[in-house]
Amino acid sequence: MTTIDFTKSPDGLVPAVVQDYQTGNVLMLGYMNAEAYEKTQVEGIVTFFSRSKQRLWTKGETSNNFLHVKELLVDCDGDTLLIKASPDGPTCHTGADTCFNEVNQGRGRFLNYLQGIIHDRKVNPSDQSYTASLFKKGVNKIAQKVGEEAVELVIEAKDNNDDLFRGEAADLLFHYLVLLEEKNISLDEIIGVLQQRHAS
Ligand code: AMP
Ligand code: ZN
Ligand code: ZN
Ligand code: ZN
Repeated sequence: MTTIDFTKSPDGLVPAVVQDYQTGNVLMLGYMNAEAYEKTQVEGIVTFFSRSKQRLWTKGETSNNFLHVKELLVDCDGDTLLIKASPDGPTCHTGADTCFNEVNQGRGRFLNYLQGIIHDRKVNPSDQSYTASLFKKGVNKIAQKVGEEAVELVIEAKDNNDDLFRGEAADLLFHYLVLLEEKNISLDEIIGVLQQRHAS
């Protein structure tokens, strides 16, 4: 089994990734020297060596949002730590659970995000919102709109203009999501139906 080797980096610091033991969320990244590592193991609470403070820093020392060590792992070549921990509260000093924010959402997840926006337009309608205007017209009108976009997609499928085809495909998907929202059905449920069919 590999053990952690602090001599591998010139400053004696190794990165330690902290992961929420229960949710699997990656919470933060800190650095440990040998002393911080020792203290962390003795106390069962995560202590880093803070590069900005240039001293040992127990996460939670002022906020009380300590990180309780559940599992400690070392990577294959002994230069990185992974700590699975149970957080007492938000790990980020901004008050967020995790220090990490999505810079770039996966494209699959964007559809769920978009459905959230569509839901918001339904419950908080504004005059400027096209989506809100669709909800005001009701389910028949929305379903009709899906039908129209489907026909437009069929028409573009017969042409050779891929840009127009992409545009109509996007229109259909958008109005389809609006229809699901009007019916109070989530995209996840529909994906579940497809998964069940796939399994059977
Ligand atoms: P705490 O250790 O939670 O008591 O926070 C003490 C100080 O450490 C804060 O004022 C921040 O400057 C810094 N800090 C706290 N949490 C983080 C974090 N997750 N990542 C980086 N710096 C942090
Ligand atoms: Zn490594
Ligand atoms: Zn943070
Ligand atoms: Zn269209």
